[in-house]
Amino acid sequence: MKIFNTLTRSKEEFVPIEEGKVSIYVCGPTVYNLIHIGNARPMIVFDTVRRYFEYKGYEVNYVSNFTDVDDKIIKAAIEEGVTADEISKRYIAECKKDMEALNVRPATKHPLATEEIDGMLQMISTLINKGNAYPVKDGTVYFRTRSFKEYGKLSHKNIDDLEAGHRSIKVSGDLKEDPLDFVLWKPKKEGEPSWQSPWSDGRPGWHIECSVMSKKYLGDQIDIHAGGEDLVFPHHENEIAQSECCNGVEFAKYWMHNGFLKINNEKMSKSLGNFFTVRDISEKYDLQVLRFFMLSAHYRSPLNFSDDLMEAAKNGLDRIVNCAEQLNYYAENAKTEDLTSEEETLLSEAKEFVKKYEAAMDDDFNTADAISAIFELVKFANQNTSDDSSKTFVLELRKELVMLSDVLGIILEKEKEVLDEDIEALIAERQAARKEKNFQRADEIRDELLNMGIVLEDTREGVKWKRA
Ligand code: AMP
Ligand code: ZN
Repeated sequence: MKIFNTLTRSKEEFVPIEEGKVSIYVCGPTVYNLIHIGNARPMIVFDTVRRYFEYKGYEVNYVSNFTDVDDKIIKAAIEEGVTADEISKRYIAECKKDMEALNVRPATKHPLATEEIDGMLQMISTLINKGNAYPVKDGTVYFRTRSFKEYGKLSHKNIDDLEAGHRSIKVSGDLKEDPLDFVLWKPKKEGEPSWQSPWSDGRPGWHIECSVMSKKYLGDQIDIHAGGEDLVFPHHENEIAQSECCNGVEFAKYWMHNGFLKINNEKMSKSLGNFFTVRDISEKYDLQVLRFFMLSAHYRSPLNFSDDLMEAAKNGLDRIVNCAEQLNYYAENAKTEDLTSEEETLLSEAKEFVKKYEAAMDDDFNTADAISAIFELVKFANQNTSDDSSKTFVLELRKELVMLSDVLGIILEKEKEVLDEDIEALIAERQAARKEKNFQRADEIRDELLNMGIVLEDTREGVKWKRA
């Protein structure tokens, strides 16, 4: 399996630190608003990477944070007249809803920066003790960038060039030793959320948060660290400097970065105002279409968002879904059960599409080619199945199609709609159980309905129900 590593700018064979296991840290969003579809790209891409590792039999420990303390969150809180905590909690909940609708699985752990302050204080103290950081008189703590000899290795920047660029914009009165130094801890301003520290009441810088959360949940050294390509510099470069100076080992073996989602060939971003939220798109399309659209390009390529491309993605996805439904129909109406010898040969031919799919995914997660392999399987299934096919044959083909789609997070098995009459029947049974004082059964039915997404309410007028 090959992965393009930003660190070496080349595709490398993936060798896990611990056999059979993969640790992945993905920088998550800053939560001050609904996420836009640019933010959804890394979520979808790295969720697919995780699914493919699992498909290959790896145990994946996948950690992705929420940045819940930040200037933008504080600004949004002031504008609305609420606390920063209220803003971040609200948008974490909204983000989780979007992730679920995009079929992005929850991480093994979603740490929050504000709950990890102790770890940050510890790492900053270690860096100060080792001479890699220093506090200044206003209570700020800076990282001493030049103390890390390998600074620039991820973004392939030369530290002297960086310094030359910085000199011209050096602000007078700056307490830094060097313009390249960056903030680890900053003193609070009036009305801002803050924590006590030996240096000042204040809050952490953004970069230290990820170094600490990655260390706590995945250890000093991890397999893969990922995010959008805008994070390469300075965020990931600074994370490397902090983590490697603190822990004394290489931080991440592989660095993966997704390309930008663009609109009219400009990066989609909140600051440019040229964005659509995931919620906007959900009004027009099933979000499976958005997921399919994102995976139709290689994750490192820039991807331009347009109505035409979304329509093309919708048509492509429909072809796959229709094929699965057609196979279902043939299975339910099949006249024979067992494979014919001709069907047996066809099934072994169909295995070629799985091989093609795996070859594409093994080559730095080339989902575009993997999707082409799925289309080939669809074409093959459409051409070689009919009313006369055996049940085993169509079910085997269907299984293959569902399996390959599932790794991409594309759902072909539609959940059965719960019918009103089934709900009413269960409610009637629960009422009868209650009458007989069989409260255990009554509670069981309530839980059963809850699992189906139905919430019961006992009112004076009787039992009412609603979909959760
Ligand atoms: P932010 O909330 O800006 O910190 O971004 C959260 C994640 O979304 C980061 O991994 C960013 O690199 C990524 N991201 C933001 N905008 C885009 C975009 N237009 N295309 C792809 N990734 C993006
Ligand atoms: Zn990060």
